[in-house]
Amino acid sequence: MNKIAAISMLIIANLLAHAAKGPAVFSEAMISAAERSNYERTSTFAEVIAVLDALQQSSDHIHRETLLTSLEGKTVPLLVLANPPISTPEQARESGKLVVYIQANIHGGEVEGKEASLIAMRDILFGDKRHLLEKQIIIFVPVYNSDGNDQMTADSRPSQEMSPLMAGQRTAHGYDLNRDGMVIDTIETAALYENIIQRWDPDLLVDLHTTNGTWHGYALTYAPSYHTAGDPGPSDYTADIMLPAIQSAVKAKFDLDFSWYGGFDYRDWPPTEFRTYHHAPRYLTNNMGLRNRMAILSETFAHDRFYKRVHAANVFVEEILEYSNAHAEEIRQTNNQADARLIRQIEENAGNYQNGVQFEMVALDEPLDLLSYKYIPYTAADGSRQFVRSSEIVEIEGVLNYNAFEPIKSATVPMAYAFPAQFAALAAKLRQHGIVVEILHENRKFEGEVFAIDQIGKQGFVQNSHRNSLLQGVFENGSKEFLTGDYYVAMNNRLANLIFYLLEPESDDGLAYWNFFDEYLQQELENSGTVEYPVFKVFN
Ligand SMILES: [Zn+2]
Repeated sequence: MNKIAAISMLIIANLLAHAAKGPAVFSEAMISAAERSNYERTSTFAEVIAVLDALQQSSDHIHRETLLTSLEGKTVPLLVLANPPISTPEQARESGKLVVYIQANIHGGEVEGKEASLIAMRDILFGDKRHLLEKQIIIFVPVYNSDGNDQMTADSRPSQEMSPLMAGQRTAHGYDLNRDGMVIDTIETAALYENIIQRWDPDLLVDLHTTNGTWHGYALTYAPSYHTAGDPGPSDYTADIMLPAIQSAVKAKFDLDFSWYGGFDYRDWPPTEFRTYHHAPRYLTNNMGLRNRMAILSETFAHDRFYKRVHAANVFVEEILEYSNAHAEEIRQTNNQADARLIRQIEENAGNYQNGVQFEMVALDEPLDLLSYKYIPYTAADGSRQFVRSSEIVEIEGVLNYNAFEPIKSATVPMAYAFPAQFAALAAKLRQHGIVVEILHENRKFEGEVFAIDQIGKQGFVQNSHRNSLLQGVFENGSKEFLTGDYYVAMNNRLANLIFYLLEPESDDGLAYWNFFDEYLQQELENSGTVEYPVFKVFN
């Protein structure tokens, strides 16, 4: 071998070694519209589909199903990533692996999770994240609100740094899809429950958003599923173990500061309180808590440039998946233990213990050392005290972190609920949630509680076309006869806490709150001056 041939051989050997060690080469078609445009644009629905097509054409490890057909006719996909490949929920269950579900763009203008999901899928299928399929199956919905995504305007995100210039609308045809978790007015929520939550039974849901404004100093903020009437196990694990571990990993690997979700009033500078959002299960992450499953809310920081927001969302998604892959068994067990604990509690104590139906926000024991952009007071021309925001990030120690909830009103948990045959729509609504509703095959007399209503209060605001109702009255012990054809909902199953929150008359996010009984109740009140809530609580 001459010298030139030897050098050539060495170069070829080096190239081969490098190719074997380096990341697999993916095709240009797998690059997102955001990446192609130097983060000046976000992907349209069709551009997302084009990337998904390219990923699917080159990989056996991606299975595609239809989540729904949108009102405008878009076929919204869900992607199941697995190694070895699977195509059915039965195969997922047989594999014994954890199922993690990641959804983005539920608010159509909050586009970072959509772009980050495409990058994460590419990293998992063709890049350096292939090990993330060892212990888990990952379901992605990159564009949940497909119609909202494509209604792009320059002013849809007014309190955000101006990149990308154009982004979609928050709502889907006027509905905020992240307030629909209980009443299920939209086809998106119905499809989510049928085609993902019930069909694939994910152990963990991740919901990707972008904040609307508070100038805290974090690249991303997060929240667990807040526990209300749910078993505290999965929520506590998420809040106390999983999220702190991910926060530390992100800081160590990427030097990014992530923290609890919340906001403060800068006019009280320096802030002494940091407050999160609402506990109610109309928010999908909180809904998961009522199902004894884990959930994480992710909010990238609206005032970072778009590329930084995508990076933060991508880092968060991939570090959550690193954690869930490494702790798959622990997560699965925590959820299963909550199921078992709940069923045992119902079977042993139904009728003898209470759960919350209305809640208030409380501070965690541990205060927060809050990162925030610094506000500087000045005297305005009219003499008032105003603030100018500097570009410096400061740390404010000992801020009370309002990131938990406690009940302010409770009710007895029954062994079952029963209601008359005329409320067929109620039975159908409960079944949309995956709840088993039985039809009585003989007349039955039950002992328990009835709620006597004397007033229907109304909220002063409208959300998703509803002016919510707050029933006022008293529980009375008694017995009630139900007939063949009436409905019976047993509580000795893992959805008991969800059933309770949906059906309790005083629940701050139940079906009564969402006006489900208004017409019937108002009619009866007009006729007789008092009315019984039509859902009877069965104690034995
Ligand atoms: Zn949002």
